[in-house]
Amino acid sequence: MIQLDIERDCKPARHIELRRALVSILSPNGLCAKCREYVGIGKLEIDHVKGRTNWQPRELSKLQRIKRYWTEYLADVSLRALCRSCNGGHLNNSWRSRDERKSA
Ligand SMILES: [Zn+2]
Repeated sequence: MIQLDIERDCKPARHIELRRALVSILSPNGLCAKCREYVGIGKLEIDHVKGRTNWQPRELSKLQRIKRYWTEYLADVSLRALCRSCNGGHLNNSWRSRDERKSA
């Protein structure tokens, strides 16, 4: 796939570096913006507070995606850092993952 080739040509950790840098600005203490649980910088996901506007993450490589987030952040688009279960809440209701965490 073309997308994989693009990623292979980049330094492997580049998008991870950029992602961590942005997440640590959005949530310096590694807390989820919604449930306020500590998940850590490396596991937080970037979310659009007002919903994504005009692009689909699946069409972009990981590096393109994080660059897009940075561009939006610098253009004052509201972003926040969420844990995986809060970010995927539309698929997997957050009450359920909250219960799963309790029992874990
Ligand atoms: Zn959360």
